[in-house]
Amino acid sequence: MHKKTIQNDFRHIPYSRFSVDLCKFRTMEKEFILGIDIGGTFTKLGLVDRKGNITAQAKFDTQAKEPFTDFLDRLDKAVHTLRRALDPAQKVIAIGVGAPNANAHTGYLEHPPNLRWGDQVPLADSIKKRFGLPVNIANDANAAALGELEFGMGMGLKNFVVLTLGTGLGSGIISNGELLIGAHGMAGEIGHVNVNSTANARQCNCGLKGCLETYVSVTGIRRTIFELLAEMTNDSNLRSISFENMTGEVISEAALNGDAIAIKAFKLTATTLGIQLADTTAHLDPEAFILLGGLSKAGDFLRKPTVKAMNENLFIAYKDKVKVLLSETPHGHAVLGPAALAWRMNANTF
Ligand SMILES: [Zn+2]
Repeated sequence: MHKKTIQNDFRHIPYSRFSVDLCKFRTMEKEFILGIDIGGTFTKLGLVDRKGNITAQAKFDTQAKEPFTDFLDRLDKAVHTLRRALDPAQKVIAIGVGAPNANAHTGYLEHPPNLRWGDQVPLADSIKKRFGLPVNIANDANAAALGELEFGMGMGLKNFVVLTLGTGLGSGIISNGELLIGAHGMAGEIGHVNVNSTANARQCNCGLKGCLETYVSVTGIRRTIFELLAEMTNDSNLRSISFENMTGEVISEAALNGDAIAIKAFKLTATTLGIQLADTTAHLDPEAFILLGGLSKAGDFLRKPTVKAMNENLFIAYKDKVKVLLSETPHGHAVLGPAALAWRMNANTF
């Protein structure tokens, strides 16, 4: 098992077009993976050694409405800047990429929801051509699961499920020490499991109604808060906050300050999640669920009622055997998952 040595101490170097941070500590490592996390708003990249230390990281605006070739040009410049952090004896051996709807089987971004680059984007091939290095891609939630397996809370575990509770709900399944990919490269879309089949179920972005992520995600709890604000008469600071500004942090802080509406929203959200985790346990028999993303920052406000609801609904064979953990991987380290993916695929070939 690798020792957990994630570096947090960075020196900020202001460049004109990119935000670049170099680790203050010189590393003696010779080989690095370039980890890239493509999000709807930002693209983050970092040079990651075999132990999960990030020696340099950068961030730029994805500009998802501009053409894909423009994105590749910006990526090229950012990579060039990052590589300056390495001395001549150090090299990048491969690239790992995490992105929404990235298909590990085909190497394509398929119908990416927040990126206007077309329905089928040849992501792996395009990056391989640009940089002349092996490229592995995975959807962002699957990459996050590998990041936890190699460098995070999943170290030493063989069967667990990572749930990313952000704008949506992404999930990645580690089964018998390997990422479960599935027949179509799409295993682990737990966010689109139906949890409400009634007529007033919430509409999901995917086109279905009543999906888990419409209830259990930052967007989901916001929707719940606004329903509760209409139903309940309690005083609440949340009444003066717009939908856009109702972040996971704002809701968590309100709950910490005893806001009855925020506390009830967490309880409802956690109950829905806990019941789903009991179902998922019956399918996969995991050792643990690892929660990350904006909503998981609420800590025990989310975790405790989730565990309670899960245990109340678990088949007796699993009772009190399945842990619910909160990821300790810092939020800014989205590149660790893609790096873990490429390390696993390429470490033995060099
Ligand atoms: Zn859905």
